[in-house]
Amino acid sequence: MKPTLGAFVSLFFSKLCPGCMNPLYGTDKIVCFDCQLSLPQTDHPWDHHNLLWERINESLKVERAVSLFDFKKRSRVASLLYQLKYRGQEEIGAFLGDWLGPLLRQSSVFGEVDAVLPLPLHPKRLRQRGYNQVQLFSKSLAKHLKLPLIDDLVYRKKQTRQLAKMQGLDRFKEVDEAFAIRQNNLYPPQHWLLVDDVITTGATIVSCGKTILEDCGGRLSIVSLASRLS
Ligand SMILES: [Zn+2]
Repeated sequence: MKPTLGAFVSLFFSKLCPGCMNPLYGTDKIVCFDCQLSLPQTDHPWDHHNLLWERINESLKVERAVSLFDFKKRSRVASLLYQLKYRGQEEIGAFLGDWLGPLLRQSSVFGEVDAVLPLPLHPKRLRQRGYNQVQLFSKSLAKHLKLPLIDDLVYRKKQTRQLAKMQGLDRFKEVDEAFAIRQNNLYPPQHWLLVDDVITTGATIVSCGKTILEDCGGRLSIVSLASRLS
């Protein structure tokens, strides 16, 4: 049987796995089977006093801290996050939310949380990118945890420079007072679950978390797609 034109075309235009950049096959969805088996998942949902929780608590009191993956440079996780953040592959966020969400429900690690808050982008960066890379991830977690998603409470008032090239203390200075509260009369103090994509030194999520706790009260837990502090 002669190959069809469609099969020929799809050979050259088949979607690639954002983790390993190999072509995706029929049954693969978003991320290939091999990556799904080998991505370095943490045991944070079951280990409440994990290293990420300890490290964040050095700067800010948080109830729980969970990251789905360990982050290393030039790894499949790094590639996955790069495609999500800079290559328009917004759907990776929803896929990873559907991965982590059931684990969070099983472990009840966020059993006392009241609402899910995606860490906001600066409006200028949001316009450039067209989407907030943690929005679909947050939405999916909220769906699995049966919690409301609140994305109109906190905003980024200062456009920060790329933190990747800065040292620890400079990162904390750069993001200091980068966030503000838009309308804290809408939401009573509660247990907030703040969501980020990758936690490296923790500077950004600590700054945002501090703003929320100082201006709105309540308690805080955090969750991220990946973390270097784990
Ligand atoms: Zn892959």
